[in-house]
Amino acid sequence: MRNIAIDGPAGAGKSSIAKLVAKKLGIVYVDTGAMYRTMALACLKSDVDILNEDLVSAKISGVDIRIDYQDGTQHIYLGNQDVSTDIRQEEVGKAASSIARYADVRAKLVALQQKLACTQDVIMDGRDIGTVVLPDAYLKVFLTASSRVRAERRYKELIEKGESCDIDEIEKDIIARDEQDMNREVSPLKQADDAVLVDTSDLTIDQVVERIMELYDAD
Ligand code: C5P
Repeated sequence: MRNIAIDGPAGAGKSSIAKLVAKKLGIVYVDTGAMYRTMALACLKSDVDILNEDLVSAKISGVDIRIDYQDGTQHIYLGNQDVSTDIRQEEVGKAASSIARYADVRAKLVALQQKLACTQDVIMDGRDIGTVVLPDAYLKVFLTASSRVRAERRYKELIEKGESCDIDEIEKDIIARDEQDMNREVSPLKQADDAVLVDTSDLTIDQVVERIMELYDAD
C-alpha cells in the first residue's frame, strides 16, 4: 500500500490539498474530520449533551455512518441522509472537537478509517492519521500555518458564501479548537516522528501540492 497521511490543525489547508493530490495520483481522498462531524451532528440532532461522555458513547454506538464516492468526491451519510453539507456548519465543527476527545468515538471511527485504507491506496487527512490510524503510511505530512493565516482563509470562505463574520472571533475559535485537539488525552493532534513538516502560511495551494508530489516521488 502507498497511503498518504496528512495531519494538522484546522484551516491549514489539509482538505483542499489532499483532494488535489488524490486527483493527481488517482487515489481516494478520505476526510476523517467529516466522520467526527457526522457523529457530532447525530448527537446535536437528538439533543444529546456532548459534554457527557457516557451519553455520547451510548448514542454513537447505534449511529450508522456510511461513506461513498460520487465523481471522486466523498459523500457521508447519517442513516440514509446525505449530510455532507450540513456537517460544515461552525457549530458542528466545534461539537466534533468536543466529542473527538472520547475513546469510544475514536475507536469506532479509527476502525472505519483503517478498513477504508486496507483495500485501496488513500490520502487521508485528520489529526491522528500518521500517529494512530496509519502508522505505516508510505508518506506522512504535517501541514500547519499561523492561526492568523488560517483565520483569514476561513474568513474568505465564509464571506464568499455570503455569511457575515468577524475575523478576530474566527481566530479565537481556531486557537480554542487547536488547544482542545492538542491537549486531549486520547490521540492528541501532534506531528508523527517520521512526518515531514510543511508550513503553508506563505505558500499557494499549488505550491503545497507540488511539494507533496515531490515528497511522494522521492520516498
Ligand atoms: O478537520 P475538521 O475540522 O473537519 O475536524 C473536525 C474536528 O474533528 C477536529 O477539530 C478534531 O477535533 C476532530 N478530528 C479528530 N481526528 C481526526 C479528524 C478530526 O479528532 N482524525
